[in-house]
Amino acid sequence: MHIDVLTLFPGMFTGPLSESILRRAQDNDLLQVHLHDLRSFGMGKYKQVDDSPYGGGAGMVMRADVIVAAMESIVAEDKKGKKSNKTKKAPWRIYFSPRGKKLTQTHVEQLAKKERLLLLCGHYEGVDQRICDGWIDEEISIGDYVLTGGELPAMVLIDAVARQIPGVLGKEESAAEESFSKALDRKKEYPHYTRPEVFRGRKVPPVLLSGNHKEIEKWRREQLQ
Ligand code: SAH
Repeated sequence: MHIDVLTLFPGMFTGPLSESILRRAQDNDLLQVHLHDLRSFGMGKYKQVDDSPYGGGAGMVMRADVIVAAMESIVAEDKKGKKSNKTKKAPWRIYFSPRGKKLTQTHVEQLAKKERLLLLCGHYEGVDQRICDGWIDEEISIGDYVLTGGELPAMVLIDAVARQIPGVLGKEESAAEESFSKALDRKKEYPHYTRPEVFRGRKVPPVLLSGNHKEIEKWRREQLQ
């Protein structure tokens, strides 16, 4: 999966992308994340990326011309056949916004089937509405609260989508039987226990120690929420 991210703060992605499973997915070339700094497409000497809203009011709005310039440069890079952009398929374009459709596991599974995503991270008051009207395929929200920017939502989406890509999770970490998965009827998972058998007076449910796989399966099914 190839993901282009348009952001004013590419540095924010360093931590999540350089550790653990996401790191391994990139090392194994199952996931390619390309960060594009919107600032470099800013206007004039000061590389301005935002402006005050028409109609007045507080806050700044990210300019449509800056964002479209960044998007078009990605397409142009593809045409030049830059080695870093292996796939030339047009990306599915997502803008993160509290006004968007709330992200669910089913939606994540659908997005994971796409070859290529483009994630636009808003900041300040968000982007000029004309971007949403003409250059975006869908708006996604990660919940009914307001964040300072779309970078954390983008990282949430990259993480959730990446673990659906075949090979990203090892056998030990399989995504098949997890909360909201089809295998668990889209319910929340059963509880897990590991050693020690008794911890500060709290015992592991005896059925899990019984070795009776049928009974264990039955118990786990009953625990789904
Ligand atoms: N003025 C907007 C909030 C802007 S917050 C409003 O009232 O709806 C700045 C940016 O953070 C947004 O452009 C969006 O990209 C991102 N953002 C904030 N909260 C979000 C959420 N819950 N889901 C997805 N993106 C969010």
